Order: sequence, then C-alpha cells, then structure tokens
Amino acid sequence: MDYLLDEEKRLYRKGVREFLERELEPHSERIDREGRIPREVVRRLGEYGLLGITLSEEYGGAGVDYLTAALVAEEIGRADISLATAVYYLLQASWGKILEKFGRREVRDEFLPRIVRGEWFIGIASTEPHGGSDVANLRTMVSFTGDRFRVRGEKMFISGVREAGEMGGGFITIMRHEPGGGHRGLTAAVTTLDKEGVETGLIENMGRTGISTGYIRYNDAEYPIQYLLGNPGDGFYIAMEGFNLARPLVAAACIGAAEKALELGIRFLKERTAFGRPLAKFEALQFEAVEDHVRLGMARDLVYKAAWMLDEHYGKGKFSVGEVNKYAAAAKWVAAETAYQVFTHVMMWHGALGYSRELPLERGLRGVMSYLVGAEGAINVMKLIVGRELFGREYMPTKS
Ligand SMILES: Cc1cc2nc3c(=O)[nH]c(=O)nc-3n(C[C@H](O)[C@H](O)[C@H](O)COP(=O)(O)OP(=O)(O)OC[C@H]3O[C@@H](n4cnc5c(N)ncnc54)[C@H](O)[C@@H]3O)c2cc1C
Repeated sequence: MDYLLDEEKRLYRKGVREFLERELEPHSERIDREGRIPREVVRRLGEYGLLGITLSEEYGGAGVDYLTAALVAEEIGRADISLATAVYYLLQASWGKILEKFGRREVRDEFLPRIVRGEWFIGIASTEPHGGSDVANLRTMVSFTGDRFRVRGEKMFISGVREAGEMGGGFITIMRHEPGGGHRGLTAAVTTLDKEGVETGLIENMGRTGISTGYIRYNDAEYPIQYLLGNPGDGFYIAMEGFNLARPLVAAACIGAAEKALELGIRFLKERTAFGRPLAKFEALQFEAVEDHVRLGMARDLVYKAAWMLDEHYGKGKFSVGEVNKYAAAAKWVAAETAYQVFTHVMMWHGALGYSRELPLERGLRGVMSYLVGAEGAINVMKLIVGRELFGREYMPTKS
C-alpha cells in the first residue's frame, strides 16, 4: 500500500529491514529454542532507535508516527517469525507511550530513557486469574495511604515478568480503587517487581517463547504515589488507549511474519516437484497461494489504515475514539486470523518438512496463535468493539 508511504518511510523501512536481517534474523531460531532474546540483541535494537520508537526525543525516543511504528513491527515480525521480539518491541512502543502521556514527571524521567536504551522493560498487567476480557470487573485492589499506594491481588498471563525482574522496569497495572465501581472504579499505576510483598512466577507457553509470560502476586506491595498514572478513576480509559496503540502493532507484526512465510511457501511451490511438475503448477495449490497473497494485502491495508487513523486522531484531532477503537480492533483480529491461515497453508505445502523444526514455520504458527487466543485482547472481544460502533452501545451483547 505504497500510496500511504512516502519516500522517507520507504527508505526508513529498507534500512530497518537490512539492519534486522543482520542483527535479529540470525538469532531467531535461538530466541525460540532458548526461550529468551539475548540482551545484546535488545541493546542493539535500542542503539538503532527501535525501542520506545514512539517516545519523544526528550526521552531519547525517535518520536515516530504510528504508521512508521507499524512498519517496524512488520519488519521485526518478519525477522523473528516467532513474534517474541515483536512483542518486546510493541510493548515498549505502546505502553511506553502511555507512560509518557499519563505518567508524572518523576516516573517518566526514571523509566523512559532506560526503556529507550533497552535497559528496562515496560509491560501491561491487566489480566487476572478469573479472566482478561472483562476488564471493567477486574479485582486487584489499590488503596491510598498518604504519599503511597498499596496493591493487593494477582495478575496472570503477563508478558515480560522475567524480563522486568531481571532487567528492571515494570508494568502499567490496572487496579480497582472502588469495590463494585465497574469501569469507573479503576486506577492505573506503574508497579515494579522489586518491592516487598511482590511474588512472581512463570507460565510455560506453546509459542513466542523468547519473551516470558507469568503471574504477579501483590501482597500489600507499596509504591510511591508518583507512580500513579492520571487520577483514580482513569484506569479503564488508560488501559483502552494503550490497547488501541498496541493492536495495530500486533497486527503489523503478524503481517510481517506471514509475509515471510508466504515468500518461503511460493519459493517451495516453484522448486518442489511431484508427479513430474512443480507444485506451483497444481491449481489447487497455486490458487491457495493467490488467495493468501490477496488476503494478506487486504489485511495489511487495514493495519496501515488503523495506524494512520491513530496518527490523524492524535495529530489532527480527526476520527472519534470509537472509530479508532473499531479499526484497531478490526486490524488485530483480521491480521491475526489471516496470518494463521497463511501459516497453516504454507506448512501444508511443505508436507512433512513443514511440520519439522527444520523450517521456521511451526514457530511462526505458535506465535500467531497467541494473538488468536488472547494476547492484547481475544478475537471475540475485537468483534464486540466493532459491534459496539456498528450497532451502538445499547445493543452490546455484554449489556443486559
Ligand atoms: C501469550 C499471551 C500473552 C499475554 N500477555 C498479557 C499481558 O502482557 N498483559 C495482560 O494483561 N494480559 C496478557 N495476556 C492475557 C490476554 O489479555 C487475555 O488472554 C485476554 O484478555 C483474554 O482473557 P482470558 O484469556 O482470561 O479469556 P476470557 O476473558 O476468560 O475469555 C475466554 C474465552 O471467552 C471469549 N469471550 C469472553 N467474553 C466474551 C463475550 N462477551 N462474547 C463472546 N466471547 C467472549 C473469549 O474470546 C475467549 O475465547 C496474554 C495472553 C497470552 C496468550
């Protein structure tokens, strides 16, 4: 969709691709196998200016627009098809930006330059053991005592628990200050893992293993009041804004990984022969590749549109929050589903080889699955968001 990309963006993307082919792609298999992104790779991403890419120059960020951030996510998804590095990247770009927007001066100064340099990690802690989709009913409690706040509860399936523990940094944590207060009773704050009363553990996932997933238990852990984001009562809106920033980047990463898979697949269909001719000459297979190519292009257009709408929304006050929500959700849903379809097709074209770990396809499929089942919001929740815009709030299935 080059009609959206000017010469500057195209050249920037080319440079990023070359950098990632050198600095990330050679590590992709090891990232998945060893279950961590080497610190050296993270440092190099930081040096190149890819971490916290959306953050202002004041904090060392590149201050790029979301369309550029999406292009980079696409390239990172392509270079590390497991999507682990893309997850790391997009959490910094989206939730780091939320920290910049809603954080108090002290916490911005403390966290943001370190995030940009790849020294500290920032993630999101919203989901709880009883569920993640129904954010308005989460249960982790926050209470205020003078110049401190105290947290009690548990967060579950949180990306980056090991990284934040080892490197430093923390999570934008969504909590309840008002029992039974629904979405208006929520507060957001940064929490770190180095406080008394914080207990963490890891959960083994089937995919994108290079970035950890875990739980965080807060047993009356205390934090300085400056770690609050916005004011008590803003938590739900802060969370939703963060998801809106993250979703187009998630979607772009899925597109990048799937594009890479499709390239591998088309090459294989041309090279591999069966019954005396290249597989590409069998119409059933060629048509599948054609459909994947076209669907991937359509999904990419949607993703770029969602990212562009964010830029227009923030930069020029265009598009309502509802419209932005709708496209961010639609992009995440369509891109993850399309990528999943591409991966399954390309694996099938490769026969037994596709099922093996000789090729990167199975690790791409495992990574993409994370975005189908739930990370940054379940697919059905994306449909609820689109439905809310289409039908109006009074027809939301979650309203009785
Ligand atoms: C790899 C991975 C990393 C993650 N990282 C993070 C993270 O960093 N931070 C964080 O806070 N969370 C994280 N999550 C959790 C993620 O946000 C949740 O999985 C997601 O919000 C869904 O919540 P749930 O898994 O509890 O499913 P539930 O909310 O219990 O839903 C279960 C199923 O019911 C469906 N469903 C729920 N409500 C409706 C409805 N109204 N209509 C129709 N269907 C519905 C859902 O689509 C889902 O299929 C991560 C998840 C994964 C898999």
